[in-house]
Amino acid sequence: MNRIADTPETASTPVGFDRAGAERTADGLIAGLLADPSTRVVAVDADRVAGGADGAPLLFRPDDPGLAELIDDDTLVGFVGRLHGAPVLVRAVRRPQDAPWPALRTLTIADAPLVETLITAVALGRWFRDAGHCPVCGGTAPLTQAGWARRCSSCSREHFPRTDPAIIVAVTHGDRLLLGSNAMWEQNRFSCFAGFVEAGESLESAVVREVAEEAGVRVSDASYVGSQAWPYPRSLMLGFRAEAESETAARPDGEEILAVRWFTRAEIRAALAGESEIILPGSASIAHRLITEWVAAGA
Ligand SMILES: [Zn+2]
Repeated sequence: MNRIADTPETASTPVGFDRAGAERTADGLIAGLLADPSTRVVAVDADRVAGGADGAPLLFRPDDPGLAELIDDDTLVGFVGRLHGAPVLVRAVRRPQDAPWPALRTLTIADAPLVETLITAVALGRWFRDAGHCPVCGGTAPLTQAGWARRCSSCSREHFPRTDPAIIVAVTHGDRLLLGSNAMWEQNRFSCFAGFVEAGESLESAVVREVAEEAGVRVSDASYVGSQAWPYPRSLMLGFRAEAESETAARPDGEEILAVRWFTRAEIRAALAGESEIILPGSASIAHRLITEWVAAGA
């Protein structure tokens, strides 16, 4: 097995993560990369990445016996792209019971190209496992384009990995920020409001609806901040700022959100510094970015 840091790299290799889409249709791409000792393989099961005892994700060589033990379906393999120039494959595998593989959302990794590689691998690996049949006719739909498409063996329709848009909003009023605490979280953990975009709905309408539903507040002037792929199971988080019409209406929905609270910048700074009982989202999330950018804007 190889640590991430063992990825072959020299001063002349490209930096970053390249999705290398033009390579996907090359004849024999996967077979060639499986025989290439510079290839690295990410093994995924649902939202977990094969990792070592220390909780760090592993990049396998294609012929690693430890990887071979995990494979239960040899067809579930795809080309993720190139990480710092090295080809990366993903395999959907079965995690051995009680193997301490890290869930991607809990990892704190500073190497942004590696994070993008792992997120893409998890998104593809879940789709390999979950979408083996044509949604139109129910026929089997084997992977094509090195894992980036399927073609139905019965009706010949092509299918591609799905992405579900979801909005996440930093709600402000004057110099205060409204956050909510989800029923599934530990006490004192707060974050921005979020939800899926419904069929036929615009992003702006979804922002207004979700904040009204979860926090009882009417917002206006939603402005787009940025996005983040979040394969849980297949979301694209679209981050917004929006201004509440009033502070007084805020109340939790009592089901999804158990508490809502207006925070000052000083309170958020203290929480970010670990100097209060309030727990904020981890640094890999777009919620963290929305919150920290709001704090910085008032400095
Ligand atoms: Zn079909």
